[in-house]
Order: sequence, then structure tokens, then C-alpha cells
Amino acid sequence: MTLLKWFGRKSFSHGVHPQEHKDGTAHRAIRRLPFAPRMIVPLAQHIGKPSRPLVKVGEEVLRGQLIAEADGFMSVPQHAPATGVVEAIELMPSAQGPRVRSIVIKVYEASSQEVLCDQSQDVDNLDPDAIVQAVQASGLVGLGGAAFPSHVKLKVPAEHAIHTLVVNGCECEPFLTTDHRVMLEQTDDLIRGTRYAMRVVGAKRAVIGVEDNKMDAVETIRARLPADGNISVEAVETKYPQGSEKMLITSLLGLEVPSGGHTFHIGVVVNNVGTLAAMGQLLPRGRGLIERVVTVAGPGVSKPGNYRVPIGTPLRYLLGYAGFSGSAAEVILGGPMMGNAIASLDVPVTKGVSGVLVLSSNAIGQPRTVHPCIKCGQCVSACPIHLNPSQLGLLAAKREYDLMAEDFHLKDCIECGCCSFVCPSSIPLVQYFRIAKSVLRERAA
Ligand code: SF4
Ligand code: SF4
Repeated sequence: MTLLKWFGRKSFSHGVHPQEHKDGTAHRAIRRLPFAPRMIVPLAQHIGKPSRPLVKVGEEVLRGQLIAEADGFMSVPQHAPATGVVEAIELMPSAQGPRVRSIVIKVYEASSQEVLCDQSQDVDNLDPDAIVQAVQASGLVGLGGAAFPSHVKLKVPAEHAIHTLVVNGCECEPFLTTDHRVMLEQTDDLIRGTRYAMRVVGAKRAVIGVEDNKMDAVETIRARLPADGNISVEAVETKYPQGSEKMLITSLLGLEVPSGGHTFHIGVVVNNVGTLAAMGQLLPRGRGLIERVVTVAGPGVSKPGNYRVPIGTPLRYLLGYAGFSGSAAEVILGGPMMGNAIASLDVPVTKGVSGVLVLSSNAIGQPRTVHPCIKCGQCVSACPIHLNPSQLGLLAAKREYDLMAEDFHLKDCIECGCCSFVCPSSIPLVQYFRIAKSVLRERAA
């Protein structure tokens, strides 16, 4: 790489460069997972109100059928991932910890992968509000991991004019390659979904940002872009957390989201590539979201790869298919920087699960002893939001949560974990900040 090209890379200041670990899955095409004998469809697998069941125990359901309706605008419906019989509607284990009311479907043995319930629609002739309704009807949520209802994200308050749709194809978390494969294999779906989203938010242009460790995706998308020039694709520096909305906006557009503000305050809406590809695939067919692509990786599986997984598939079934040896020290949903370790393999894959990381005890290493802060300043140099994690950490240890929020901008922390990653004293800074935020949220409620 020439010096000129290096200096010309689009990026943000600070951040970290963890080992990528993507080689094991990035070059493997997406494979379809067979149906598990039993599917667990939680009614609350998104941010917002849980959906309301429309089926009863003993009722037969078809693959793609609406089985739970949205409960208001801040909610999404659920669709049957496979044809079978409703066995139960009861509390079931969830990745979030508490048991969640779920529809359990006993899948027919000869159940076909064909989607049996859909209704094609001419999305190009729908007005923006009708597209928002169609997005909600599809049950789509942010597939990058946030699980925020996609139709809500597209419904920008009328007083904010949007000039640019930023499409997030960074996938900066180590191990994860879901978005990479979707960009390569569902390029036309992605471009179609991008056009729909542009129409809804009123953006004249869209910029797809892709980390420069995925130049094959940049080239594939560039070759398929429409000739009008309204959609472009740009490579950005491979650096964590490039996939954070605020960082990507800065890298691509040179704009900064104000402290405490939203992206629409600066005329931008951000959507993930996986979400827009799903939108481009589902909307013309009038289908619900019943499957998603999940990266299964880590030293604890012998068949790592990207799998198209029916929503509701128990993790134990998915991992069994991916060659899980059964001796993992830790299973993480999402990536190693922002994902969460889970306590049970009986939880289902939900709409927000982008990856399952199976780590052995060798990969995790010995538990690290926490030492006092040595004031080295590495966390300050790493923080992409330019906070003072060291000071925040000291205040968190004293439970000075109000002071953290009022004087040290705790609410702007994006919980990226860069500070914990670099801390030579192994202080679990980001965990402190998550606790502080949840205490403040509870107090406010
Ligand atoms: S977790 Fe918060 S404080 Fe730590 S580096 Fe990320 S944004 Fe900064
Ligand atoms: S990186 Fe760790 S030891 Fe260094 S200043 Fe930050 S909190 Fe203190």
C-alpha cells in the first residue's frame, strides 16, 4: 500500500485494531440450515413492546404465516419459520437472561423450505408511509445486532430533512462475516433495499461504507450500482468500532453527531447492509422475516461458516450442525467486543443474532487480575468518542453515577469496549459503564 493511499483512507480518530479472525468464514458461501425439530419464536426479540400471539396451541401453521401481531407502532409481528403445529405458548429461556413468552412450533418432519405465505407487491409504486407499513408488516428489525424495529428507524420526525442514507457494511467486530457474505451474495437485494429506504427518508443519495478488508464486496457492489449515481460505495479504514453509526458518519461524511443528539439532527439515517438486503428481498414478495444469516465461528466448532438460520432455531441444534465439540469454555452471541456470553444452549436464534462465537479455554486464556489504574492514558487515546474512561472508571468504582452522567458525558459512551481492550490493568471499564447506565435508567424510570 502506498503512503498516499494510507493517508487517503477514510476513517475516524482513536479506536483500536483487534485481530480480525475472519479468514475461517469470510470465503465460505452461505449455507442453509435444515429445520430443527422444534422452533422457539420469542414474542419479545426486538426493542419495543412484545408482539401478541394470533395462534392457539394445537393449531397448524405454515412457513411464513403471521403468528403474532405487532402491539402498537414500537413493535413488530412474528412469522412461522417452518410448517408444523403450535405445541405451546409459554415462558422459554432467552439469550437476554429472563424467560420470555414464546410460541413453540413442533416442525413437521417433511416440512419444505418453500415459503407458503406471501403476497407480492409493487413497492416502487407505494408511497413512503405505505413502505413504512410494509416494513413493519415484514417484522424486520436491525439485523446488525441492535434489533431495533426498522420501520421506526425509517420514520424520521418531519422537521428533520435527510440528505444522506449511510449504509453500514463495516462489520468491524472480529470473527463476524455475515454482512460480508450478504454484500457478495445478495448485492441486488441490498441495492433494492437501499432505494426503498432512500425513498422513505427522502435522501437524495446513499453511501455504502465498507471496511477495506472487504474490497471484494466493494468491487461487487460497485459493479451493480445503478447508473444514476445516487448510490455510491466507499472503502473505509479497517478499525474498530468503524461500524458504530457515529464513527461511520464521521469517516464517510466528515460530520459529527452532537453530544446527546441523533443522526437525523445532522440529516443522516444509518442502516445496516443486512437489514437493507432483507428489506429488498422481503418487501416485493410481501414476506415476513423468518430466517437470517448467522456467522458461527471460533475454535470450538469444526464447521465454521455462515448459515441461513430459521428464526427460532435452538442454538444447540445450530452448533451441532456446525460441528460443536461440546467442550466450549464460552459461547458468545455477537462478536467478542460487544457480544454477550450465554448460560444455556437452549436459547433460540433471534432476529438480532449476527454471530455465535464458540471459544475454548485456550482461546480465552487465564482470567486476568484487575490492578489499580496506573494513569497510562491508553484508554483516553483509544476512546473513539473522546471521553475520559479512566476518570469515568474511578467514579464508577465509587458509584458516583450522577457525576459520571453530568460532568463526564456517560450517556455518549457507545459501549464499544475499546477502553477495556487496551487497559493494561485489566479494569473492566465498559462493564462498569453498562452498570452505571442501567442504574441511571432504572432511577429515571
Ligand atoms: S466503551 Fe465508552 S468510554 Fe470506553 S472507549 Fe468505548 S465509548 Fe469510550
Ligand atoms: S488504560 Fe487502564 S490503567 Fe491506563 S489510564 Fe486507562 S484505566 Fe488507567
